[in-house]
Amino acid sequence: MSRFPYSDEYEVHRTMPAAGTPKEDILAMMSEMASRENVAWEGGHCSGTMYCGDHDHYDFLNQAFANFSYVNTLQRDMCPSATKFEAEIIAMTLDMLNAGALNANPGGLVTSGGSGSIAHAVLAYREATTPPGRPNMIKPETAHPAFSKAGHLFGVEMKSAPVDPVTTQVDLDWVRKNIDGNTVALIGSAPNYGYGTIDQIPELGAMALEHHVGLHVDGCLGGFLLPFGRQLGVDIAPFDFSVPGVTTISADTHKYGYALKGASVLAFADQSLRNSQYFYLTDWSGGKYCSPGMDGSRSGGLLAATWAAMVHLGQEGYLRYAKAIFETSVAMQRGVRGHPSLRIMGKPSFLFSFTSDEFDVYLVNDFLRTKGWRLNGQQYPNALHMAVTRPQTQPGVVERWTADLADAVAYAQAHRDETAKSGAIYGGVAGGMSAEADEFIRAVMANMMDQQASIPSL
Ligand SMILES: *Cc1c(COP(=O)(O)O)cnc(C)c1O
Repeated sequence: MSRFPYSDEYEVHRTMPAAGTPKEDILAMMSEMASRENVAWEGGHCSGTMYCGDHDHYDFLNQAFANFSYVNTLQRDMCPSATKFEAEIIAMTLDMLNAGALNANPGGLVTSGGSGSIAHAVLAYREATTPPGRPNMIKPETAHPAFSKAGHLFGVEMKSAPVDPVTTQVDLDWVRKNIDGNTVALIGSAPNYGYGTIDQIPELGAMALEHHVGLHVDGCLGGFLLPFGRQLGVDIAPFDFSVPGVTTISADTHKYGYALKGASVLAFADQSLRNSQYFYLTDWSGGKYCSPGMDGSRSGGLLAATWAAMVHLGQEGYLRYAKAIFETSVAMQRGVRGHPSLRIMGKPSFLFSFTSDEFDVYLVNDFLRTKGWRLNGQQYPNALHMAVTRPQTQPGVVERWTADLADAVAYAQAHRDETAKSGAIYGGVAGGMSAEADEFIRAVMANMMDQQASIPSL
């Protein structure tokens, strides 16, 4: 499929139109595009990304958003509602993550997403400590690239710890040996994006306490799902504030919090760590300026919609959704385990990843793509993952998965000498890309944004 399918169907705006376009025309065009694009995931063929997938729920969130979409949460005197929503989002998240067990003063920050929460955690550890040299943090190799991005932005060295090739969990001995006087925090994922496996948080917590460093748990993906999995009796090791040594947890409301895109919570075991990373400029001629995080103006709509999702679903709703998701994941994993040529990586959770020691697993992906499946590709070794979301819990999806996977394995066995067409790229950019050349990656990214470059006919 072309990445620019609309360039021949709709007018291309290279300049702002001289006269305005009627609202109805704009809305009709957008609703047509949205309905067409929704087909890619509505049937449950798409890993991750559409966590709720329920249009009634999205309509409800959009209504909540609309009440405050134009409000700037920096102007708190004008929107006490935003203060209420934000404080309650943080309180509910802290409670869900067992911050009540802490003998401390927990707090939180609502950010723009998982990368935002991770960035603020890295910034907070940098600001709260004064190591003699350049601060560093130790992350499992499997931890999200947002940690490296934050390190890059804030001048914190990110040491990458190897993981066990079988369990895909972090190598604890490596972490222990690499803590030094400039280490400000350790990192573990619950779970990681690649394999859905959870690092040994209790052991990392003990190590963090012993060395007087922080421990960030990346619950961006699992933060709103694993707590409910544990309540349901799923075998999940402790990962939250009940574990001694855990100092921050990121949990994305815009993933399994079933809220709108653009929000996440960074939870702190102690407010003093959060308070260390505020920015303020008190002698600016424009007035005294302060902002809790990296963003300046933020929409009150996102706080309202996030709050609405949490309060509407309640614990009962999150539990019900979690039950369906964990059961579906187990059933889909059973489909994979039925094939001796496929191997599941480590002990997965709601997200599972598999590889093959017999053929390139991307051949499996090549076939699954023809059936509309959109799995995420990984490398070293090549593997495919499925993050089970609510769309997969619809009737019939597991059966289709099992049948299509069997055909895909047969296809891979028959074509094992050929080169697979699909490759490993986070977020689905550039199918078939194999070159990692800098220039090429920069061109792909520019192409996403640059209208001139994006219209082949120009
Ligand atoms: C999605 C994700 C992130 C980053 O979150 P964004 O919302 O995409 O910025 C970080 N960690 C994990 C485990 C994730 O799945």
